[in-house]
Amino acid sequence: MVAGVVGWPVAHSLSPLIHNAWIEALGLDAVYVPFAVPEERFEAFVNGLRGGIVRGVNVTLPFKTRAKRMSEYATCEADFADAANVLVLKSDGKIDARNYDGEGLQVALEACDPEWSTDLGPIAIVGAGGAASAALAALIEAGAREIRVLNRSKANADALAERFRPEVKSFGFDEAEAALGGVTAVINASSAELKGTGRLPPLLGAPTGAIYMDMIYTPLRTPFLQAAAARGHRTADGLAMLVGQARPSFEAFFGVPAPGPEVVDVRALCLQALGEAA
Ligand code: NDP
Repeated sequence: MVAGVVGWPVAHSLSPLIHNAWIEALGLDAVYVPFAVPEERFEAFVNGLRGGIVRGVNVTLPFKTRAKRMSEYATCEADFADAANVLVLKSDGKIDARNYDGEGLQVALEACDPEWSTDLGPIAIVGAGGAASAALAALIEAGAREIRVLNRSKANADALAERFRPEVKSFGFDEAEAALGGVTAVINASSAELKGTGRLPPLLGAPTGAIYMDMIYTPLRTPFLQAAAARGHRTADGLAMLVGQARPSFEAFFGVPAPGPEVVDVRALCLQALGEAA
């Protein structure tokens, strides 16, 4: 069995490490490989997989929306987000698009606080790109009634609010105080604090007890999370989300559940690969 991850670039992806560790632990006759596909070849690549030996692929930047649009079938999360992080290749050559990023996000939040749930109160999401829309789709599906999107470009936040009405409201960074009042979680789904990129403005107005979560995991403890922790907030990192979405992806590709952390601790393997302390 063959599965993989497609992106451009893709060498940094931790998905091969995670999936191959699970494959080895289960003794499966399978392999999970990275596919580095230049932007202009993406559609040709996916069409070339149809009816072949590859069971499915995870999809990472910058292809999630294009991947969804190439599929014949889609789960409601992928449809709602208009983005896929998994393509399952069916034996008849058709493609089934899924999006497990939202599930990964919920796993990360619940690992931080098992009592946390979408219906406890408003949730703030920073960013208005593909990761934010997958998170909105999943959180609304899971029962969230009010989500506040804060974004550098207010127009992009407005567009998301329009798409996900009536649960989503839009805010610019200059309206952070209003956006963060009473929220139960503040989720950074922007790429602002990826290694070597820009910084977010201080977004520390959430009530004590709110969880601060960052989808970015390079670095693991972003300035956003460090500032929140220094204020006494609980934090959840992007690696928990990555592993959280990898589990259902693995089962979609190989037809068996991934083994639990007592069998193989993939988070520890990832931390080691990132040069981070556990
Ligand atoms: P997109 O390119 O679609 O969106 C980027 C977003 O970040 C936009 O809202 C953009 O704002 C904002 N942004 C970019 N630079 C800055 C900056 N300097 N200051 C403020 N805002 C900024 O990316 P994605 O939505 O696909 O991904 C976002 C992040 O989430 C990435 O870092 C990705 O690695 C991570 N991610 C992690 C996952 C995990 O499993 N842990 C899964 C999926 C994504 P504007 O609209 O103003 O341009």
